[in-house]
Amino acid sequence: LDAHLAPYVGENGELKGIVAVLHDITDIRRLEKMRSEFIANVSHELKTPITSVKGFTETLLDGAMEDEEALHHFLDIIHKESERLHRLINDILHLSKIEQHMIPLEIENVNVVEVVGRVADTVRKDVERKGLELLLPKEREVWIEGQKDRIQQIILNLVSNAVSYTPEGGKITVSLVERGDQLAISVKDTGIGIAKKDLPRLFERFYRVDKGRSRNSGGTGLGLAIVKHLVESHHGKIEVDSQEGKGTEFTVIMPKKQ
Ligand code: ADP
Repeated sequence: LDAHLAPYVGENGELKGIVAVLHDITDIRRLEKMRSEFIANVSHELKTPITSVKGFTETLLDGAMEDEEALHHFLDIIHKESERLHRLINDILHLSKIEQHMIPLEIENVNVVEVVGRVADTVRKDVERKGLELLLPKEREVWIEGQKDRIQQIILNLVSNAVSYTPEGGKITVSLVERGDQLAISVKDTGIGIAKKDLPRLFERFYRVDKGRSRNSGGTGLGLAIVKHLVESHHGKIEVDSQEGKGTEFTVIMPKKQ
């Protein structure tokens, strides 16, 4: 039930009563709305890996195929992106289920530095197109226990957002800080920032501060909802610190051992 209350004031400013507007949004209607919005947005979420596969295939067909080393490298990326696409489809289909029952992790040892490197490869074109500076962790290896593709998805969503919401010439810094038995993965940008009032709702499905801007950059409003669930499935937590017009820093704090 949605309620809006407004004072009803007489000619001399005296309070005559209260007007109450009650609006009934039943659970069913809300669910239907969520479902149709969800379906409408799924196609956007699938766009990133498809764009990557398409881009690398085109580069190969444009002549990069002649170069044996490039051929292997690009095919490797295309293969990994198709695998990721497959997992992403599963993730999206399962998103609503993950909200209720956590799907168990397939734990492995993950070198987060390598994962960040892959993410950087994926966004490189956009980074170059926007003339952004992307600073990566200096370490060669930092290991945690977790599910590699999920950790990659977490970092990719955060870095993609940083790329989308940072104007040309800006800087994005990915850093790793070990704090005892925890690892803090931070993605910091010098972008448009987020107003304080929007911070509490940021991780809700489909919540976007600026719908137009989000859509233009291929956003779905699902990215951070997915991030939150994936982080929580690793018993981690996510924090955000932002200043409008200055930039944003997302910090994922993960236990190193599950
Ligand atoms: P979207 O697909 O719209 O980017 P997300 O769930 O990833 O959806 O993010 C939700 C909203 O949070 C975005 O629409 C944007 O308004 C805001 N946002 C996320 N990351 C950043 C960032 N690094 N800088 C500024 N705003 C951000």
